[in-house]
Amino acid sequence: MDTPIVGRFAPSPSGRMHLGNVFTALMSWLSVRSRGGRWILRIEDLDPQRSKPEHARRICDDLDWLGLDWDEGGVDGRGPNGPYCQSLRHDIYARYLERLRATGLCYPCTCTRADILATQAPHASDGRVVYGGRCRPAVLPAPWHEPERPAAVRLWTSGRTVSFTDRTYVKRTVRLDRETGDFILRRADGAWAYQLAVVVDDALMGVTEVVRGADLLDSSAQQIYLYELLGLQAPEYAHVPLICNAEGHRLSKRDAGTDMESLRREMSPRRLVGHLAALAGLVDPGTEITPAELARSFSWSRLPATPAIRL
Ligand code: GLU
Repeated sequence: MDTPIVGRFAPSPSGRMHLGNVFTALMSWLSVRSRGGRWILRIEDLDPQRSKPEHARRICDDLDWLGLDWDEGGVDGRGPNGPYCQSLRHDIYARYLERLRATGLCYPCTCTRADILATQAPHASDGRVVYGGRCRPAVLPAPWHEPERPAAVRLWTSGRTVSFTDRTYVKRTVRLDRETGDFILRRADGAWAYQLAVVVDDALMGVTEVVRGADLLDSSAQQIYLYELLGLQAPEYAHVPLICNAEGHRLSKRDAGTDMESLRREMSPRRLVGHLAALAGLVDPGTEITPAELARSFSWSRLPATPAIRL
């Protein structure tokens, strides 16, 4: 029997969705629904300062309005692989961290700047920090020693090169020590890092396909390294173009009129879905359509092979 296709959308509930988030959600949904797959909605609320339950509820409501339905997850967390909010999955991450420590490749790190960035998905435009190795032991692998003061857990990347084939970017090769550096698995304050959480969750939720923004392309290399160390099967990846404003910058809350609040005021779901589908080259500009109608003819080959699409 073929493995069932399982996709997911994994928003961070730090604000209202904008056109770029919705574009990613629609492409992920279309990719699985066009092949009869399942779709999971996971709430990535690892960052306690920025995540708010009301944002998570809004995201669910906006997806509902668009006609993007999910089989598992959401704020009510229905389904067999829960909990679906990362803030409720502490014990699960702790178990997998133990497994990674047992490889001898983890070490305690007391550097703070990277600590602060660790729970955020490291979008390329945020400026990636490659760790210089100040706390790295002289010899690795080495047994784990409990540090005397609170420390982050960092993973040695050991000169590894990771190659993978992305559905929209073809082949990608990343030399981890140069391009991402040793990375954090858990912050000194106990908060879990995005890279660990996303791998554990995608693996345990049976996700076979990750569709997300092109700014997370290099994170896939770190994630594939974690899959290998944990002996888990990595999903397929498709990094979709980022929607950019007229100046070519990724959309943010500063771009008026592109958040779901304004969009819902100004257009119907069919018009918005048609607009996004036209940006993806799936329909002609001006088409009004539902996600379910689009799913009948969706094909990855129609998407432009570019990291960014200007509005
Ligand atoms: N939660 C991440 C974000 O909001 C997405 C992570 C992913 O899709 O892997 O950017």
